[in-house]
Order: sequence, then structure tokens, then C-alpha cells
Amino acid sequence: MVTRLDIVVIGGGAMGSATAWQLATRGREVTLLEQFAPGHTNGASHGTTRNLNLGYADPTYVGMLAESLMLWETLGAQSGSEQITRTGTVNHGDPVSQADTLAALTAVGIRAEELSAAEATERWNGIRFATPALHMPDGGQLNPDLALPSFQRVATEHGATIRHGVRVVEMTVLGENQVHMVLETPSGTEILEARSVVVTAGAWTSYLIPDSVRLPQLRVTQEQPLHFAPRDAQTGWPGFNHNIVPGSPGFENAYSPVYGMLTPGEGIKAGWHGTGAQTHPDQRSFASEPKQLHALRDYARVWLPGVNADIFTEISCTYTNTPDEDFILDRIGPITMGAGFSGHGFKFTPTIGRILADLATGSGPAPAKFSAGRRAIDPTALSAGSRSAHGPF
Ligand SMILES: Cc1cc2nc3c(=O)[nH]c(=O)nc-3n(C[C@H](O)[C@H](O)[C@H](O)COP(=O)(O)OP(=O)(O)OC[C@H]3O[C@@H](n4cnc5c(N)ncnc54)[C@H](O)[C@@H]3O)c2cc1C
Repeated sequence: MVTRLDIVVIGGGAMGSATAWQLATRGREVTLLEQFAPGHTNGASHGTTRNLNLGYADPTYVGMLAESLMLWETLGAQSGSEQITRTGTVNHGDPVSQADTLAALTAVGIRAEELSAAEATERWNGIRFATPALHMPDGGQLNPDLALPSFQRVATEHGATIRHGVRVVEMTVLGENQVHMVLETPSGTEILEARSVVVTAGAWTSYLIPDSVRLPQLRVTQEQPLHFAPRDAQTGWPGFNHNIVPGSPGFENAYSPVYGMLTPGEGIKAGWHGTGAQTHPDQRSFASEPKQLHALRDYARVWLPGVNADIFTEISCTYTNTPDEDFILDRIGPITMGAGFSGHGFKFTPTIGRILADLATGSGPAPAKFSAGRRAIDPTALSAGSRSAHGPF
């Protein structure tokens, strides 16, 4: 027997949960399907901290940041759980892009200020600053283990159906408003059809989408940040991003820019960005690559005097990378795609949910920058040595 539904969202990570939230609060009939149990750690949206780094200059991202700051508050009010921890964020290492960011944020009314290296060190003596820094007091941290249940709870309160332990194993486009799906459920195989399907399957995207949907190449990597033990529990920590050029003087062993923040109860998180080994989401090792791990400890010994680089715990998580590190937010026939968040999507989650809900209901386009048909070119390939397109994240 075939069950016919209005809108089905595949993937209950950050982006799928936010899309279901947006659709349900608009009164749409929506079903969210997630293959694993709530709180699983197999994808990209687990753990208690993500950087709400406002360090962008690109107008599309800056506009989405301004909207996300409001929508995180909306979710906070609807769920009764404050979503943002306002520690502020501080970026250093690249005065040129910091100046661009300052101008872009000021233009939309997001606060930012330049500090000298000495002023920044005075404020945050757990971090070493050798160049001027950009401080963004409205930045801070988000908490996936709080946000995902909040999105899903509010969506359910507005009529959404959320099913965990259900894996979509086959998807076929039968017509402009008809998608056929085969599901593996705890009680056996099930057949569903839906008028509109949103695919937010993270690292599994390339293995699920029908051939009719062409996307820029997606490369899944296993990322391995660390939590270091703080030397002094009283030290104050903002979110931090150190924009460095791997191989440049003083950074001979560096793999990429470094991001980090305080994770209450776990330590000071620090990580390379997008340098993990390529992997298949169902065949992961969950083990850190030793050379990168030791290089990160070497980095911490020099640039994070507030941590003990010899006491740490390992984290494992997946990035789904596009060549240009820009997202894919697009609709192809009855399939709406949200993929390729390239390690910097979490801060934008509620806005991505809004855009995907607009696409799925035909009530609005996505920024052209995120089209699935774009020629996605790796910016670092264009000018050797330049940093990642934005952030680190
Ligand atoms: C180590 C690390 C640090 C990060 N730090 C930051 C940060 O500081 N700031 C920031 O903004 N971003 C950060 N990010 C990025 C951010 O976490 C991701 O962009 C975001 O979580 C991606 O969410 P998603 O919903 O696309 O993916 P996921 O959370 O992986 O969700 C996809 C879901 O789809 C489900 N699924 C897949 N296939 C199927 C199927 N066939 N049937 C049913 N279910 C299916 C999966 O089980 C999974 O739950 C970080 C990411 C990592 C890995």
C-alpha cells in the first residue's frame, strides 16, 4: 500500500530539522524522516558547541547572518530555550579581510570593532595575538544538542510528524509533483509518495539523490578537532578564528586556518578547517589522523597559552564540502536540495530552513549563489595560497 504525503524532509540533522520547523509553523503538512536515533553522532550536527562567527564580508552571507540572529531568537522564544550563548567572537591573522568584514557588518548594523594585538591580549590572555583583531560582540556559540530537539519539538507542536530509525533507501521522481520512496523501517519495508521532497541528508546526499538531480561534486571529510584542558578555569574565552596561511613563516606545520571556542564542561575546542581525510559516511574510522593531531597540539602550544596541549580529548565529525565552499540550496522538479555546507553551515541553520521551506512550497527562490547548476570552482585553486573563501567559519 502506498501512503501519499504533501512534503517529506529526508534527514533530521540541523538543516532538515530547521526546514520541518519552518514548514510546520507555516501550517504545512510535513513528515521528517531520520535514519538514526535522536542525538546520534554519525553526522555533522552533534555536540554542544558551534561557532556563531560573524566574520563574513560576502553580502549574501552577511544578509543571512542578520536574518539568522533574529530567527535563533524566534526559536528561543518558541521553544523556551535560549539558543545563543553571547561570548562574542574574535578573528585575527588577516587584517585585510577583517577590514572588509568590519565594513560589511557595520553596513547591516551588526556590531564589530578593531582591536590592537595588545588590547586583544589584555582581554583574552588565553589566546596569543600577533596582529590586530576584529571583535564581534554579537557572536558567540550555538548548541546543536539543544537546537535540534528545539526545532523538532516546535515542529511537532505545530503538527509535524517526525520519524527516527527510518532510512530512505530509494527515491524516484515520477512526475513534477510525485516522488516515490522506499523506506527501511524497524517494522520492515514501506513505500511512500510525496508531492514535494526536501533532501537534507548531509554526508549521505550523493548516495541518495536520483540521477535526474545534478550537483557540484560533494567531498565528504572526517574532521578531527580537539578539546584541550584549560590551564585556568577563570580565563574568559570568546569564539576565535585565526586566519593563517599554511606553510607561511611560523606556520610551516599548519594545515589551515584554526577555529575554536569554550565548550562548557569539555574544554577549549580548536580545529583545522576542512582538512580531514575523505571518507564514506557508513565506513568511517572515527579515529584522528595522528600527524594533523600533533600539528594542532604544536599550534596550541604557541598560539593558545591558556590551554594544556598535552591534555585533550578527540572529536570526530563530517564535513560535506563543495569545491567553492558555498552551499547548495536549490529545487530541481519536486526535489529541493540542501547540501554542501562545507563546515560552516550551522550558524545559518534557521535561515537555511526558511529558504528550503520557500523552495519546497514554491513561495520563494534561493540566492543564485547557491544554485545546483553553478560552476563550483575551488577559490584557493584560482589564486594559490589565498585563504578559504570566507571565515574559516
Ligand atoms: C567538527 C565540526 C565543527 C563545525 N563547526 C562549525 C561551527 O563552528 N560553525 C558553523 O556554523 N558550522 C560548523 N560546522 C558545520 C555544521 O555543523 C554543519 O554545516 C551542519 O551541522 C550540517 O547539517 P546537516 O543537516 O546538513 O547534516 P547532518 O547533521 O549530517 O544531517 C544529515 C542527516 O541526514 C540523515 N540521513 C542521511 N541519509 C538518510 C536517509 N537515506 N534516510 C534517512 N535519514 C538520512 C543522517 O542520518 C543525518 O542525521 C561544523 C561541522 C563539524 C563537522
